[in-house]
Amino acid sequence: MAKSPSVIIVGAGMSGISAAKTLSDAGITDLTILEATGRIGGRMYKVPFAGLQVEKGANWVEGVGGKELNPMWKMAQELHLRNFESNYDNISANCYKENGGLYEEKVVNDALEIVAKVDKSGEKLSSSLPSSGFEDISLLTMQRLMKHVPTDPVSMVTDYYTYDYEFAEPPRVTSMQNTVPLSTFTNFGDKLHFVADQRGYESLVHHLAHQFLKSDKHGNFVDPRLILNQVVRRISYSASEVTVTTEDGKVYKADYVMVSVSIGVLQTNLIKFAPPLPDKKIIAMYQFDMSVYTKIFLKFNSTFWPTGDGTEFFLYASERRGYYPIWQHLETEFPGSHVLLVTVTDEESRRIEQQSDNDTKKEAMEVLRKMFGENIPNATDILVPKWWSDRFYKGSFSNWPIGVNRYEFDHMRAPIGRVYFTGEHTSEHYNGYVHGAYLAGIDSANIMIRCIKNGFCKFSIKAKNA
Ligand code: FAD
Repeated sequence: MAKSPSVIIVGAGMSGISAAKTLSDAGITDLTILEATGRIGGRMYKVPFAGLQVEKGANWVEGVGGKELNPMWKMAQELHLRNFESNYDNISANCYKENGGLYEEKVVNDALEIVAKVDKSGEKLSSSLPSSGFEDISLLTMQRLMKHVPTDPVSMVTDYYTYDYEFAEPPRVTSMQNTVPLSTFTNFGDKLHFVADQRGYESLVHHLAHQFLKSDKHGNFVDPRLILNQVVRRISYSASEVTVTTEDGKVYKADYVMVSVSIGVLQTNLIKFAPPLPDKKIIAMYQFDMSVYTKIFLKFNSTFWPTGDGTEFFLYASERRGYYPIWQHLETEFPGSHVLLVTVTDEESRRIEQQSDNDTKKEAMEVLRKMFGENIPNATDILVPKWWSDRFYKGSFSNWPIGVNRYEFDHMRAPIGRVYFTGEHTSEHYNGYVHGAYLAGIDSANIMIRCIKNGFCKFSIKAKNA
C-alpha cells in the first residue's frame, strides 16, 4: 500500500483544527499541527477577569433561528454551552447624549429605521449588480445614493451599531455586495447568542480536537501530532515536498502544508514563503482587510447602571463617531459581577492599543460619568485586549473591503502547489466568523483530499468577468 501522505497544519484555531479533523476523518492521519502559542483556539479565547472567564475574542454564535442550522449552534447545543440570546430591541430607549441624559426613544428609533430602510434598498441594488463584483460599491456610496449620510451623534451611533459593530470597519471601507444582505443572517437566522460559559467558546475547538487527537484522563492533549509554541517562520515548497522551519530552528518536512494563520499575519513578514507566492496571490492577500474589534471589560465594586429587562445594551452618542459607543452590562449573564463591556473598533482600537490601560480607563470613566453622573465609583480593574499588535493575529477578523472582487478572493484562497490555505478569511460566504473558520477548514481540507485521493489538483478560479 502507498504511504499515507503527510500534512503539516500551521495554526490551531478553529479552521486549522477543523481542517485537521476533516483530513483525519478521510484517513489522512499523518498530521503535524504547529501552533505558535501555548494553546489551541486562536481567536476564540477565554481569559480570567474579575473572577469570571470572559471572552476576549469571539463571543457570539451569530446566525441562529434561520432556515439552515449554523454548525456552531449545533455544536454549542451538544456541549450545553451556557449562552444568552442578545436582545437589542430596547437600544432606542437606552441611547445617551454626549453630555448626559437619554435621547427620546422616538428620535433613536427613527434613526434606526432610516438605516434599516437604506440597508433594505441596498439589498435590491446589490442583487442587480454583476456577480463578478466589478461594479461593487461601498456601504457609504450606497448610503449616499439613498441620500442618507449620518452626520449627527444619533445617526452616527445608530449607523455604527448597524455596520461597524458587525464588520469593525466604517461603511466607507466595506463592500456592499458582499455584506448586504449578509449570508450569515440570511442563511442561519438573525439571532445572536452570547456565550458565557466557564469552559469558554474555545471549548468548541477542544471538542473537535478531542475527536481525533489523543488526550489524557484530565482532557489534556497528549498527542505528539499537536506541537505548541512552534512559530512557523519559513515555508519552502517544491513539486515533491514542503519544508517548514520554525523560529527555534526546527525543521519539519511533509508532502503538503495547510496554512491557517489570519490574513493579518499573512500581510506581515512573519512567514516567508520560498519561492515567494505568485504576485496575483500576494496582491489579493494584501487587498483584503483585517479589521480591529476591541472588547474592553471594566470591573466595579457596585452596579450604578440600570439593570433588568431591556437594559443590557446601551449607546453613547458622541460627536466623535465610534468613541466608546456600544456598551453592555453583564448582569444578565453574571449577576452581581458589576462588569461592563464596551466595544471600540478600527482607528479607536489602534489608538487605544497604543496608550496605557490606565489612560483607557480614564477615558472610559469620563464617558461613564457623562452618562451616569459624577458620583459613580471608579473601575477597579480593566481588560484591554491587544489583537492588532499581537504578531500572531494582527487584528480581529477579516472584513470584505470595496475593491476586492470574486476573482481576487479566489486567488487569495487558492492553493499554490503543495501549499494550501484556510482560515475564516477564505470562507466563501462567512468570512469573519467562527462558523466561517469552521466551514473553511472543511472546504480547504476537501480540496486537498480531492488532490491527494483523486489526483484532481486544479483549483478553478472564475474568469475575471464571469
Ligand atoms: P485563528 O483563530 O487566528 O487561528 C490561527 C492560529 O494560527 C492561531 O492559533 C495563531 O496563534 C496561529 N498562528 C499565527 N501565526 C502563526 C505562526 N507563524 N506559526 C504557527 N502558528 C501561528 N466570530 C463570531 O462568529 N462571533 C463573534 O462574536 C466574534 N467576535 C470576535 C471578536 C474578536 C475580538 C475577535 C478577535 C474575533 C471575533 N470573531 C467572532 C471572529 C472569530 O473569532 C474568527 O473568525 C475565528 O476564530 C478565526 O479562526 P481561524 O482558525 O481562521 O484563525
